[in-house]
Amino acid sequence: MADVWMKYCTRQARCKWCEEPILNGSPMVMVKIWKGKEGIERKYTITLRFHPDCWIKQAMANLDKEPPPTRKLPLSEEDSKTRKRLIRKYATTKHRLKVALDGGNYTGYRIDKLMCKLWDIRNQIELVGGVPKEWPELKETTIRSQ
Ligand SMILES: [Zn+2]
Repeated sequence: MADVWMKYCTRQARCKWCEEPILNGSPMVMVKIWKGKEGIERKYTITLRFHPDCWIKQAMANLDKEPPPTRKLPLSEEDSKTRKRLIRKYATTKHRLKVALDGGNYTGYRIDKLMCKLWDIRNQIELVGGVPKEWPELKETTIRSQ
């Protein structure tokens, strides 16, 4: 936990980042880091002072330690087609399975085969953009209720 604010320097201080003095009357960034547990024991603090520019620099340096979130690449035309085909295939297969589960004259073997097919489609679509959010977990109960 840290509190950060800016104020005018009233007493010359040393910048934590560049170690140059922060002159009296110039703006500075104050950072108060709370030590101890959250809540009652938040008594002990460390206060750091920065030139405003240096505050940005150190923040950027910290930020660079973590890679920026990767944005998903748009699918190629080919992959996009594959994805659409898989979505259609999934819908028909799921419909067949639902009919089977609802007491159509399919055997257990048929149900297993359809389940496998759905899993297969899921695995395939994982490679072309990931499993759609709308696809529920593959369980007999979720298929029945749809
Ligand atoms: Zn500085």
